[in-house]
Amino acid sequence: MAINLTAYKQVLAELVPYNARLVAVSKTKPVEDIEELYGQGQRIFGENYVQELVDKEGVLPHDIEWHFIGHLQTNKVKYIAPFVHTIHAVDSYKLLLEINKQALKHNRTVNCLLQLHIAAEETKFGMDTTELYTLLDTWQQEQPTFGGVRIAGLMAMATNTDDQQQIRKEFQQVKTIFDTVKHKYFSEQDYFKERSTGMSADYHIALEEGSTMIRIGSLLFGERNYNK
Ligand SMILES: *Cc1c(COP(=O)(O)O)cnc(C)c1O
Repeated sequence: MAINLTAYKQVLAELVPYNARLVAVSKTKPVEDIEELYGQGQRIFGENYVQELVDKEGVLPHDIEWHFIGHLQTNKVKYIAPFVHTIHAVDSYKLLLEINKQALKHNRTVNCLLQLHIAAEETKFGMDTTELYTLLDTWQQEQPTFGGVRIAGLMAMATNTDDQQQIRKEFQQVKTIFDTVKHKYFSEQDYFKERSTGMSADYHIALEEGSTMIRIGSLLFGERNYNK
């Protein structure tokens, strides 16, 4: 058996009081692992690589809700637009436009989360608050043309550190920015509600600080081997 069922059940139990959801991050993991978790009732899976996601979607049950959680290149949106449910790491207006265009071709609406850069590391993707508000101002002006995307919330990754206080502060920052954005741009819309924060190492803190979607990979599927 490849998946950690004990961990899965524990995570699910922990989510209940917060009314949050689990995105099972299956990147680099075989289809059999996904099927096993699917057999346990899991329906939301997250992937980071376009080709891998397309391949898996083609052979797995169609009631899976696929979330793309990695950095997405504009020229690859078309491959996942026919089926992707939520894109977690939207970090430019250009990408939002392309998702809209491709989704409309399929008469679909794709949920998009805007990725905030909150971590101390320079390497992580995402927007600072200035970029975020610039994107939202533009979106607000052009909104009637955006039938293919629904901005459903924010996504962020905390710094990879053992300093729990720092991680907590970063997640609190997401909550503060979320509240501001909600008030300013989405006060009338009930779909702007997601905070996609928390991974295997920090999801407890993320839940305490208002995460609505945790993205868990290694805890459920084991460590990833990128050299396979
Ligand atoms: C890989 C990945 C995860 C899962 O990370 P784990 O530490 O294995 O739980 C979550 N979010 C994103 C954006 C990822 O790329």
